[in-house]
Amino acid sequence: MNPTSLSLFELSKKLGQKEISSRELTDSYIKNIEAREGDINAFITKTFDLAREMADASDSRRAAGKTYSNLDGIPLTVKDLVCTEGIQTTGGSQILKGFVPPYDATVWGNLKKAGAVLLGKTNCDQFGMGSSTENSGYGNTKNPLDLKCVPGGSSGGSAAAIAADFCAGSVGTDTGGSVRQPAHFCGITGLKVSYGRVSRYGVTAYASSLDTIGPMGKTAQDCAMLLQVMAGHDDRDSTTPNIEVPDYLNELEKDLPGFTIGIPEEYLGEGISQSTLQALESTKAVFKDLGVTFKTISLPHTKYAVPAYYIIAPCEVSANMARYDGIRFGNTQEGANYEEIIVNTRTHGFGDEVKRRILLGTYALSAGYYDAYYRKAQKVRTLICQDFTQAFEGVDAILAPTAPTAAFEIGKNTADPLQMYLEDILTIPASLAGITGITFPVGQSQEGLPIGMQLLGPAFKEERVLRMAHQFQTAIDT
Ligand code: GLN
Repeated sequence: MNPTSLSLFELSKKLGQKEISSRELTDSYIKNIEAREGDINAFITKTFDLAREMADASDSRRAAGKTYSNLDGIPLTVKDLVCTEGIQTTGGSQILKGFVPPYDATVWGNLKKAGAVLLGKTNCDQFGMGSSTENSGYGNTKNPLDLKCVPGGSSGGSAAAIAADFCAGSVGTDTGGSVRQPAHFCGITGLKVSYGRVSRYGVTAYASSLDTIGPMGKTAQDCAMLLQVMAGHDDRDSTTPNIEVPDYLNELEKDLPGFTIGIPEEYLGEGISQSTLQALESTKAVFKDLGVTFKTISLPHTKYAVPAYYIIAPCEVSANMARYDGIRFGNTQEGANYEEIIVNTRTHGFGDEVKRRILLGTYALSAGYYDAYYRKAQKVRTLICQDFTQAFEGVDAILAPTAPTAAFEIGKNTADPLQMYLEDILTIPASLAGITGITFPVGQSQEGLPIGMQLLGPAFKEERVLRMAHQFQTAIDT
């Protein structure tokens, strides 16, 4: 059996028992990448030489009985928003083409210290702005399960890389759904962590009050192993609280007696495909067999989530993109004077979606409009947070579809940005509330494309949603 089809958990065991070496495993992934990357375009930068070096170093540590962790020797990919020392990090944008960070983001630094191997940096929508990876400055990524379809976004390269057996796991980011929706489109598992659970230090900022960094893998167990190393307080990110990181792997094995799951009625309205609704029913049946009870709940402000998000996120974009002026950051374009240099740098470097959001955000923050847009959106955000707080008083978790449909065809929504934004309706509320959520595959659409459900949990209860998804995956596996 080709080892690349195994889960990260199983690979870690095989490495531990010396049934396979990290070098062999790394070479197997490279072989897969060389065979299919031309069709898929999951990578912006490949780091094969480095990967072989890291794998050899891991094998030597293992031979000496000195491995760093259960991730030692595991080949991973990392979304190109995450700074990697000495390796190009573009944020998916031409404006950062050739940028080589002199330091590691905390999250990658932690994985490196755990002995993980880096196969490359994955493709994404520019700075994370998008839902299909069609807004990348490096060509779009295709869905490995159907090359006519998008892999989702913005962490589309990471999801595609896992689905195509190009790596054992990946690091994605989720600001409004970018880990969960690509996981759903590509039939893998992705965890959106609570805001502050994983350090954002060294990760290119998109919308700073919403940005989260999460693990992606074949299974919840794989995500738990990655999160163990990724999570925790970081002095360099003051939004990471100094609270305990649970033993995620251990927590997975506890069963689910007495658990109650809420189904939000607002998530099952218009536009949700028939096969998605069927997949929800079959998911419920599995959980019922595991002893879980269900209850219908209401999250009444759901319909305001998309408009509020598409004010708040662009406002933060307008501030965060200001540093790319060709002087502090960004590839400098020529110009006769200071202003022309900035204009040319941005005109050339930013894609259309980034420009659109800078315009929207600058407008919404401008004098006279601030109260009407930004302040109002913030009030709506508070109401959405309250919806979840109230819901979690009566349920342990919330189960809902991740997106209205399975993966859509490339080009379907590119002409209509509003339609693209509306695709995010089911992932955005949890992002505004800063809570955690996991998407895992549960079924298929009529076209045979994967469908993933999301399980949302209270902030800093990653262990709960991981455990529930793991129990589900164990139940359907046997
Ligand atoms: N699709 C959403 C957006 O474009 C979410 C993206 C994300 O989570 N990075 O903003």
